[in-house]
Amino acid sequence: MLWQPSLPERYLNASESDLAREISARRAELGSKLLVLGHHYQQDSVIQHADLIGDSLKLSQMAAAEAARRGAKYIVFCGVHFMAETADILTADDVAVILPDLSAGCSMADMAAYEDTVDAWESIQQAIRASGRKQRVIPITYVNSTAAIKAFVGEHGGACCTSSNAMRVFEWALGGGDTPKASDEEIKILFLPDQHLGRNTAKRHGLVTEIDAAAGASVRAQTALWNPKLENGGLSPREIVDARVLLWAGHCSVHKLFRPEHVATARQEGRTVLVHPECAQEVVDLADLAGSTEFIIDEIAQAEPGSRWAVGTEVHLVNRIARRAAERGVDVRILSDCQCLCTTMYRIDQAHLSWCLDHLAAGKVVNRISVHPEAKRLAKLALERMLRLAPLKSTQPVTID
Ligand code: SF4
Repeated sequence: MLWQPSLPERYLNASESDLAREISARRAELGSKLLVLGHHYQQDSVIQHADLIGDSLKLSQMAAAEAARRGAKYIVFCGVHFMAETADILTADDVAVILPDLSAGCSMADMAAYEDTVDAWESIQQAIRASGRKQRVIPITYVNSTAAIKAFVGEHGGACCTSSNAMRVFEWALGGGDTPKASDEEIKILFLPDQHLGRNTAKRHGLVTEIDAAAGASVRAQTALWNPKLENGGLSPREIVDARVLLWAGHCSVHKLFRPEHVATARQEGRTVLVHPECAQEVVDLADLAGSTEFIIDEIAQAEPGSRWAVGTEVHLVNRIARRAAERGVDVRILSDCQCLCTTMYRIDQAHLSWCLDHLAAGKVVNRISVHPEAKRLAKLALERMLRLAPLKSTQPVTID
């Protein structure tokens, strides 16, 4: 996590309404030079200042197009660190991407360190060589990963994926990626950093992700969990070679809080359960529907009046969806009462936004997020492979209120 110096007292002591007024004044002053992006999980007091609202990849794509259209020089990304990196990768070099609080990281992205990934790659290749089998590994990384991991994946012939296109990217990889699979060749996926999205996607591809106790040892799991804290990922050479998908042992600290018992309670209340695929497999299996943030927003937007829902994703998004749905007589609540909050995203507040904008208005860029040019080039390869396979349906902002 990067270190964010504390803000001067005047920002910390200001009231929310004074900060809102000051931010609005600065936005007006900076005019078309500034673009403020708000991720769906951001708190309402910050979202109210966003020019564009969306999920991480779409926001970056919208921002790149909008910055070019209006000649913006500064993009202030009210999200987390990897999102600002993605915006920097996709926008022109003369646009500065700024993260209002440098300590707004993502615990999931931080679970896949570059050095650990290089070590894992070596160990996997060594196990394959020792086995004498003809296997090729294609890495896939969820876009919720650092630029360094995206670059690693791009360099090794792999692609990024989102929660909405992971199925398509898996299919491409299992077919050999950009080099079609030879008849005598086995393809293995290394999926980073979210084990749950990887496992849920592997399961939808018909790959066995757990051994059913009733079926016994005759059923062999086709996924294996790579734990970077353990030697050889905690796997035997045989397990490495046999697995068709190696799942990095990362997870989202928000979505892991949803549990099967929450689904059971929601069912007793007569609610349809809708979850994000970053939730654990046992939750996704029990849910009525699972899909990306955009899928969740669309499903609730189309829900019949009188219907009741429990939604398993970040609390600020669920609260906004629920407010809008209530106007149509649709009853929405978060799946768990633990108030699942992305605490890193929550570090971005009006005080930090105001502090950044004051500096920009004085001609000084603070908290710029800059990806190294070579990492940018390689990460772009991974992003472009994904976009070629699954172009985004639209780059129109998805708004909730
Ligand atoms: S919700 Fe999870 S994956 Fe998304 S930014 Fe927060 S910790 Fe990272």
